[in-house]
Amino acid sequence: MSHWVTVERQRLRFAAGHFATFADELEPIHGHNYDVMVEVRGGLTEESWVIDFSLLKRLTREVCEGLDHKFLLQMESRVLSIRDEGTHFEVQYKGEPSYRLPKRDVAALPIDNTTAERLAEYIAGRLAERLGSAGPGGLAALRVGVEEMPGQAGWFERAL
Ligand SMILES: [Zn+2]
Repeated sequence: MSHWVTVERQRLRFAAGHFATFADELEPIHGHNYDVMVEVRGGLTEESWVIDFSLLKRLTREVCEGLDHKFLLQMESRVLSIRDEGTHFEVQYKGEPSYRLPKRDVAALPIDNTTAERLAEYIAGRLAERLGSAGPGGLAALRVGVEEMPGQAGWFERAL
């Protein structure tokens, strides 16, 4: 037997630009209004909570704020060439014209591609850190979904 809670959408969202790569292609630069969905599974506290909804929403919102109105850049890409030029990143794909992105507008993410699946994994990691320090004990697992457009989401699940 287990209990879980979910929080999603409303203010748990971020608007961001990106380009993902797949097969032999770099997507044109574009953006999404990403909606975030979070499930936390665990034992109940003495007051029969898994976790306070408002705390879970606040922690999720903090993670979303780090991505909001940013360009999401996959720093561990195996196909993009990314040069750190101090105040900006110079990004090139297979000799095509390069993009010059000011760092203040970039969320430099330790992921290999900006797919919804990897964004969900990234958010789950940041949220797990916050839950570890601010959440109640007894939490068992976390699932994060990132919906890049209605009806199209990538998910990641991890233990806590
Ligand atoms: Zn996209």
